[in-house]
Formats: sequence, structure tokens, C-alpha cells
Amino acid sequence: MYHHTIIRSNYMLPGNEPFYEFSMKLWESLEQDTNYNSMVSQRGVVNLYHSDPQRDAFARRGNAMRMAGADAVLLDEKGIRELCPFLDFDNARFPIKGGLLQPRGGTARHDAVAWGYARGADQRGVDILQNCEVTGFRNKAGRCTGVETNRGSIAAKKVAVCVAGSSSRVMERAGMRLPIESHVLQAFVSEGLKPLLPGVITFGAGHFYVSQSDKGGLVFGGDIDGYNTYAQRGNLPVVEDVCEGGMAIMPMIGRARLLRMWGGLVDMSMDGSPFIDKTHIDGLYFNGGWCYGGFKATPASGWCYAHLLATDQSHPLAKEFRLDRFERGYMIDEKGVGAQPNLH
Ligand SMILES: Cc1cc2nc3c(=O)[nH]c(=O)nc-3n(C[C@H](O)[C@H](O)[C@H](O)COP(=O)(O)OP(=O)(O)OC[C@H]3O[C@@H](n4cnc5c(N)ncnc54)[C@H](O)[C@@H]3O)c2cc1C
Repeated sequence: MYHHTIIRSNYMLPGNEPFYEFSMKLWESLEQDTNYNSMVSQRGVVNLYHSDPQRDAFARRGNAMRMAGADAVLLDEKGIRELCPFLDFDNARFPIKGGLLQPRGGTARHDAVAWGYARGADQRGVDILQNCEVTGFRNKAGRCTGVETNRGSIAAKKVAVCVAGSSSRVMERAGMRLPIESHVLQAFVSEGLKPLLPGVITFGAGHFYVSQSDKGGLVFGGDIDGYNTYAQRGNLPVVEDVCEGGMAIMPMIGRARLLRMWGGLVDMSMDGSPFIDKTHIDGLYFNGGWCYGGFKATPASGWCYAHLLATDQSHPLAKEFRLDRFERGYMIDEKGVGAQPNLH
């Protein structure tokens, strides 16, 4: 059970940041809205930097965040020493020079979020069918008129797909090929330890992020495995890479025992950004391409998808998340690394 998942709005690009900041604001009232304890914990997310150019890039990101109404504080080494005295500041290869802190970032308990939303939907009259697989789409004169499932067919005026790591397989049944590859992302949890981490910490010279659950386990992860797969388990090279990242910033993590690890599917888009859009088939809508970061988007993703379904118009905050953005040349390449999912 993955007890905590990272929530943050530390994006930079105009197509992304206002959307994620809206999501952050919705997180802040989610527990009131659903009357459910989702363990939203705004203990801060700090991205460490290790060089002068990286500091400049983080300062730029922080400014973009603040312009979109988010919070961001650029800390120097002294500031990080006060926040996280246990880090290895003098690592010869990756000395820690400072960090970009988003104090309102933090974690939430993913399954409690799902339960809270499920109860809210149920109370509003939504039928939730569990263990019911969509096996195909009904189509009449080029219009989607419902779905086929392993438990019979369901007619609908509008069909909204949001199946994350299964996006390509499901949309293939509607005859669509998506600009998405499915990859595996691994996560790790240590045995329970005394409270140590103040919030979420990410390594800036490799891919490693860590937080501590309320039960005390260090919850951490890193890169996707980097090859196309539908297997929900990862491989050892990434385990080694993640552990190296951990050892580089907090060597004492080497003494902690690993309690469990697992891999899940992520729907990696070609530019690392998501889709909330109509498709070319009337009545069929698509939400996906969330890569490894769709959890934090959940409240805004649902909000903007509902807006699209109700009005047939993109919500202003999600208007860049279009399927045709590659044809139009309007990619949202947050990391500036190009069109390869395993680089995002
Ligand atoms: C190990 C790991 C760690 C992650 N950590 C973070 C994090 O810290 N922060 C963050 O923001 N994001 C994180 N993510 C990403 C995040 O979990 C996803 O982006 C997010 O869950 C996607 O939400 P969703 O509602 O679109 O899809 P999901 O939550 O995956 O839900 C899709 C649902 O569709 C169902 N489905 C699939 N096919 C069919 C079908 N044919 N018929 C009917 N139903 C179907 C599935 O069973 C599933 O229940 C992580 C992902 C992984 C794997």
C-alpha cells in the first residue's frame, strides 16, 4: 500500500503551471469538500540544486510559479542545512548548494482520495461498477453511443475515457493510436523509522525523491524503467539507480531495510504533458498521458474534464492539453528534453 503520494505545483510553462496551481488549491479544500480525511499534508517539497546554473534554472521556475499565484522560496545552502541537517552537503561529486522549496507542496494518501471521491460520487447518484472491464466501443454513423463491457453493454450519449496506463490499449478499441507509450515506474518503502524528513526532498543531480509516511516508512522512487511495457513490475538497474541517488544525498538511508517495492504502469506522453480533450469521434472524450505525475492533478483533472464533457469546450486552464498539439507544433515540453518519453 503506497501511503503517500506527492502533491505539488512547481511547474514552469504557461500551459502547465496555472492548471497545477489550481489543482493545489483544490487539494487545500478537498477534505472539507468530500468530508473525508485524505491525509493531505502540506509539509513542503524541496528540490535540491547542486550547481550555479541549476540554481538559476530553479530561480526562474520559482518566479514562474509565483507569477501563477503559487508559492516558491529559493533557499541557499544554509537554508537547506536548517531544514534538512541530515543531508550529505559535501558529497564530492554532487555538493548541495541550495534548493527550491514549495511550502504548500506535500503528500496525500492516494487511496483515501479515491474513497472520498467515490463516496461523494455515489451520494450524487453516480453508479460505480467495480470489476467491469470496457472491451469495446459502440459506434453508430461515426458517433460513439456507448461501451461494451465484460458484463454487458452500456448506452451513453457521451463516453469519457480515463484509464491511465491502459490508455493505448483501450483507445485502440476505438481505432485510435495515441501519442502515448506505457512504461513502468517503481516505488519503494522502507521499514518504519522515527520522524526524520520534514517533507518531500528531491535530488537535483539524478532522479530520486523521498518522503516519510505517517507510519514512518521512507517512501521513495526515481526514474521510469525506460522501455515500453505493460508488465507491472520493474527491473534491477532502476533499483540500483534509485538507491544510488538516495545514497548520494542521505547515505544513512543505506542502513534502512526495504519493506516493499512495486511497479505500476504510467501513460507517458511524448512531451511529458497530459491530454484532456475531445477525440475525432463524436461523443468520445479522452483524459490521459499523465506520465508519473497524475495524482497531484486529480482534482483539477476531474474538474476540467467535467467542464469539457458538460460544455464541449476545453476549460481555460486545460486548453493546451490537446491531442493535436504535436501537429500544431504546440508541445508542452516542461523539461525541454524532446520527444522521447524515457527522457521526461
Ligand atoms: C509507482 C508510482 C508512483 C507514482 N507517484 C506519483 C506521485 O508521487 N505523484 C503524482 O502526482 N503521481 C504519481 N504517480 C502517477 C499517478 O499514480 C497517475 O498519474 C494517476 O494515478 C493517474 O490517475 P488516473 O485516474 O488517470 O488513472 P488510474 O488511477 O490508473 O485509474 C485508471 C483506472 O482505469 C481502470 N481501467 C483500465 N482499463 C480499463 C478498462 N478496459 N475498463 C475499465 N476500467 C479500466 C484501471 O483499473 C484503473 O482503476 C505514480 C505512479 C506510479 C505507478
